[in-house]
Amino acid sequence: MTIRDKYSKIREDIPEHVTIVAAVKTRTAEEVAQIIDAGLTDIGENYVQEAETLYKKLGDRAKRVRRHMIGHLQTNKINRALELFDVIQTIDSLKKADAVNKRAAVRGKVLPVYIEINVGSELTKSGLSPDYALIEDLIKEMAGMKFLRVEGLMTMGPVTGDPEDIRPYFQKARQIFDRLCSLDLPHLDIKTLSMGMSHSYKVAIEEGSTMVRLGTVLFGARIYR
Ligand SMILES: *Cc1c(COP(=O)(O)O)cnc(C)c1O
Repeated sequence: MTIRDKYSKIREDIPEHVTIVAAVKTRTAEEVAQIIDAGLTDIGENYVQEAETLYKKLGDRAKRVRRHMIGHLQTNKINRALELFDVIQTIDSLKKADAVNKRAAVRGKVLPVYIEINVGSELTKSGLSPDYALIEDLIKEMAGMKFLRVEGLMTMGPVTGDPEDIRPYFQKARQIFDRLCSLDLPHLDIKTLSMGMSHSYKVAIEEGSTMVRLGTVLFGARIYR
C-alpha cells in the first residue's frame, strides 16, 4: 500500500471526531507531501531544526496543515518554535509555560498549547505526573497567561508490547481530561485529548482519545539516518 492509501484507510476506519496528527520525524519531504495531498490536516514534529528544514521543502503544503510541536521543547528554541508551530503539545511545567507565554506576548499572538502528562510516571519521560491536583494547579496559574490558551492534554503512555496493558493509563488520562473540561477559567478551552500512537491508537480511541499521533502505521518503520 502507498502512504496515501494507508492514510485513507485509517482515516476511514476511525471516528470522524478523532484528528490524525502525522508524526513525521525522520520522514522525507516527499513522503510527507504525499500524505498532505491525501487530505492530512495536522502534522507533528519532535525537533525544531528538523521542522524548519522540512517546512521549507514542503513550501505551500506546510501552510495547508496545522503544525504541532510534539517533542520536548528546549527553552532556547522557543522563539523559533513560535515561528514554526501552530500548537505546542508539550508544556510540562510552570516555568516552561511562563517562558512560552512571555515570548508569545512579544509576538502579540495567542498560542494554543496542551499540557503533557506522564501518565505512566516513567522516569525517562517528560511530562507532569498524573496527579489531578498538580495539573489543576498548573492550569490555574496558566489562566493568568494571556498569550497561551490551554486546549488539551497530551500523553505518551508506557511503551509495552501489548496495547491492552496501556488501557488503564489511557483511562487515567481520560479521567483527568474530563475533570479539566469542567473547569471554567480564563484562557482555558480544553477540548483535545492527544493520546495513542501506532501500536496503541485503537485502544486510545476506545478510551476517549480525540487526537492520535501516528508515524509507523502511516510511513513504515523509521530509519534513523
Ligand atoms: C514518534 C512519535 C509518535 C508516533 O510514533 P509511532 O509509534 O511511529 O506511531 C507519537 N508521538 C510522539 C510524541 C512521537 O515522538
